[in-house]
Amino acid sequence: MRPQIFALLTRPGDCLRPSLLDPLFAPVTTLPGVGPKTAKALDKLLGDETRPARVVDLLFHLPTGAIDRRPSPSIADAPIGGVATFAARVTEHRPAPTSKGKAPYRILVEDESGDVTLVFFHADVRHLLQTMPVGAYRIISGKLELWEGMRQMVHPDRVLDPAQAATLPAIEPVYGMTEGVGPRVMTRIAAAAAEKCPDLAEWQDLPFLAKAGFAPFAEAMQALHHPPDLKAVEGDTVMRRRVAYDELLASQIALALVRRQQKKIAGRATSGDGRIRRSIEGALPFTLTDGQRQALADIHTDMEKPERMLRLLQGDVGSGKTVVALMAMAAAAEAGRQSVLMAPTEILARQHAERLAPLAEKAGLKLALLTGREKGAGRARVLEGLANGEITIAVGTHALFQEGVAFQDLALAIVDEQHRFGVHQRLLLGSKGEAVDVLVMTATPIPRTLSLTWFGDMDISVLSEKPAGRKPIATKAISSERHGEVVGAVGRAVQSGAQVYWVCPLVQESDTLDVAAAQERYEGLRELFGDKVGLLHGQMPGRDKDAAMAAFLAGETRILVSTTVIEVGVDVPNASVMVIEHAERFGLAQLHQLRGRIGRGSAASTCLLLYKGPLGPVAEARLTIMRETEDGFRIAEEDLRLRGEGEVLGTKQSGSPDWRIARPEVDGDLLAAARDDARLLIERDPHLDGERGKAVRTLLYLFERDVAIRLLRAG
Ligand code: ADP
Ligand code: MG
Repeated sequence: MRPQIFALLTRPGDCLRPSLLDPLFAPVTTLPGVGPKTAKALDKLLGDETRPARVVDLLFHLPTGAIDRRPSPSIADAPIGGVATFAARVTEHRPAPTSKGKAPYRILVEDESGDVTLVFFHADVRHLLQTMPVGAYRIISGKLELWEGMRQMVHPDRVLDPAQAATLPAIEPVYGMTEGVGPRVMTRIAAAAAEKCPDLAEWQDLPFLAKAGFAPFAEAMQALHHPPDLKAVEGDTVMRRRVAYDELLASQIALALVRRQQKKIAGRATSGDGRIRRSIEGALPFTLTDGQRQALADIHTDMEKPERMLRLLQGDVGSGKTVVALMAMAAAAEAGRQSVLMAPTEILARQHAERLAPLAEKAGLKLALLTGREKGAGRARVLEGLANGEITIAVGTHALFQEGVAFQDLALAIVDEQHRFGVHQRLLLGSKGEAVDVLVMTATPIPRTLSLTWFGDMDISVLSEKPAGRKPIATKAISSERHGEVVGAVGRAVQSGAQVYWVCPLVQESDTLDVAAAQERYEGLRELFGDKVGLLHGQMPGRDKDAAMAAFLAGETRILVSTTVIEVGVDVPNASVMVIEHAERFGLAQLHQLRGRIGRGSAASTCLLLYKGPLGPVAEARLTIMRETEDGFRIAEEDLRLRGEGEVLGTKQSGSPDWRIARPEVDGDLLAAARDDARLLIERDPHLDGERGKAVRTLLYLFERDVAIRLLRAG
């Protein structure tokens, strides 16, 4: 165990951030005109559970569009149907006739070329008389329309005294809106945030900078918040690319430092004689696929090296990653050393333990389960067994890595189904043994560009084929109006011996409502099918969850109504039908993961995607893709196309650092350059002591990749 790393990683914040960056990491309330109310709204938009919104969050909150407010020479020249800006004289106020309650207040303005009627509903008349007295000249900006042949403007965006004309930007940036902060306020405070951006020493390679035509960072930030023309926000500008490259470089340098650090802790060669592996393989009811053999060969080669293994095993749902994990743990056991297998959920940890224990025991290995639910004497026994080496394999949840869990000689840590497992956690994992080999397994097919950004520090093995004998899953999209027919079909499937997952949807992302929906469906199906129906959701007590899962696995229940708790890893090969309600509410990746629960046995499987119309174009595209393919990589790429990349990886929910500026789908070229640049830099200046190295430290702090800086000090 390396307590110093543990401490380093859990220490919040870092006092070594250059003070030059302090204004950017100050709360938004340090900006002029941001009071507690605005700050609260910004927290909601830009903060997270751990911290309020800061100036830097505003800085990286880029405009999503812009409005052209360049003035037209005259009213006659002003464009109709879009935003127009012109100077005019106020000629008349026309209050609404008192007889018509809801009629608007009107103000006429004109110049030599024509006139415009300004229209105000629920007008504050006193204010209008004050700001637009008859005879005054005003600069007016807003959406100009034709109404019965007359020019009119409903609620102008801006009405300015000509003396203040300079305060109206020719091109006004538009920001993603948030409740509680109006567009004008947003524009103003974003500009104020950009003001706070100090001049920073250049961290980019100067020849590269010149070749790419990149401006200095602060200048680029100013330009992004003060777009010089419409193209600057709509098109892809060199200014955005500059900052995107900064962000990619920061992440690649962090990964390069992590990689260096992890490789530097001298690993231990773990090599066995193959005895236990042969015994387990002999007991398997199937033969390993070529892909599984290849992955195992990669893993064993890594383990036998005196360096640490850092490997990602990528294999689509159902490709058979669990048995690869078991064989790798068996290899560690042959060398007399321990392994852990960590699952993201309690249900999955239990399933793994139940599946693997008989195989392990046959081979003479002791396997134990450790989750948050093991308590008291049972827990103490497991902890003792891990500490004295009696237990060779521990299966569990993140509870495995809590303080107080010590191993006699941990060789291998395997993390299952956790693409959300960030650099941070990977480091933490290594802290439980001197030089633990790390294998991360994921079913999330990660497009190449993303795997580079997230796992640039890891080597990758891919299980590209599924075990032989799998039949394709027939996937159908069905309107929820045909619910009755679906229930009938499920009944017939159960009659003929099939088992069915019935997945209830997310209701407004609220656990409680989810559960209510599942409960209601359960009761409805129960009326028809009696005790053949089981229920599983996240809020059930642990024991009840186990019982529900066990009953379904044993075939005692034939229909399992559940929330998305079964999304990941659950393996009941006899289940061959899945109904997903409100499929239109799920993302592609999630639908693919869910559907991956069936099609695991030899029976033909069916997935029914129930949707409630009318479908939007994105939802429709998703359902079409699901019907067309089972190929996880194709689905992931379509998913990337349909949504932001952060969501593919689920980082939005997990709170791990997300891209703020870079867009891997358009910045792929920059990413490759950033990786090469980062690796070269770290090779030449491993401690970031050189001139560029020091500037790079600032870059890491700026993009909050500074956990890597702590590594510099640790090593
Ligand atoms: P995943 O990669 O999604 O974690 P699992 O490890 O749960 O997949 O494996 C899915 C199913 O395939 C399991 O029931 C497992 O026993 C079975 N399986 C794994 N490898 C093979 C193989 N080589 N031949 C046949 N079935 C296999
Ligand atoms: Mg799995």
